[in-house]
Amino acid sequence: MGAPSCNTGRVSEPAAPPPAADDLIVLRPEGLYCPAGDFHIDPWRPVARAVITHAHADHAHPGHATYLASALSERVLRARLGDDITLQGLAYGETLTCNGVRVSLHPAGHVLGSAQVRIEQHGRVWVVSGDYFVSGVEHDVNATCAAFEPLRCECFITESTFGLPIYRWRAQAAVQRDINAWWHANAPAGRASLLMGYSFGKSQRLLAGLDVSIGPIAAHGAVENMNAAYRAAGGAQQRVGTPARRRRERRVRQRLDAAARRAPSPGRRPRLRAERPRRLAGFAARDRGHRRAARDRHPRL
Ligand SMILES: [Zn+2]
Repeated sequence: MGAPSCNTGRVSEPAAPPPAADDLIVLRPEGLYCPAGDFHIDPWRPVARAVITHAHADHAHPGHATYLASALSERVLRARLGDDITLQGLAYGETLTCNGVRVSLHPAGHVLGSAQVRIEQHGRVWVVSGDYFVSGVEHDVNATCAAFEPLRCECFITESTFGLPIYRWRAQAAVQRDINAWWHANAPAGRASLLMGYSFGKSQRLLAGLDVSIGPIAAHGAVENMNAAYRAAGGAQQRVGTPARRRRERRVRQRLDAAARRAPSPGRRPRLRAERPRRLAGFAARDRGHRRAARDRHPRL
């Protein structure tokens, strides 16, 4: 057996060499494809069998005949793609055999239910990462989901959205301390503190890092829907979500929903910032333009 070619490359690299005949994963117009197992991974066009790494919209597309994903992501996937999708949930580490290819899902540390896809055939192992979180700072993990699990393999197909060296993230704890200090300074002055982030993933990480002793917390309805999925998953995920003061939170949330309808888009942030400069801490982004991110001075997770 020759050395693995790892020829799947990236869509944006037109010069990618052709795949070797024994590649376990190749790139097709629909997305990453396992010829031996006859399934796709996070395909962007409708296919017969899709293995989904996680429920973010750029990975979980509608229209596939069948879905395979981690059991933990099932609730969010159905909320986003429809309750009627044909979806099989797999526990982390559980193995499924497709046409002689062993498929298993392993924690990626990114969001609730996020998974790396491990593919094994005749003793060869390839792994597709999906989005994943590895801080590089000791003990700095995403507290809202299972931590990234290193997997031994001969070919690792990795997402690399933040792989450029311009990205230098601080430890989450340091960012969370800054956010809580800012909130703590705003609260006595009666200023509401507004944090913005993607509804699935980033918002829950923000919530998990907040010091709930400072004051009440309300979440936008879109965030609260995802919070419910995290809470239903139990364990460490129960840290996310709103505290028990439900009635008060509901009133705050209604006002927040109304404010967000007026200016919910990150693209309209300058307007929001101009109107209420002391309330906006920053936008916790999952994926942004490189130049923009490089000059970003706001707290980031
Ligand atoms: Zn993602």
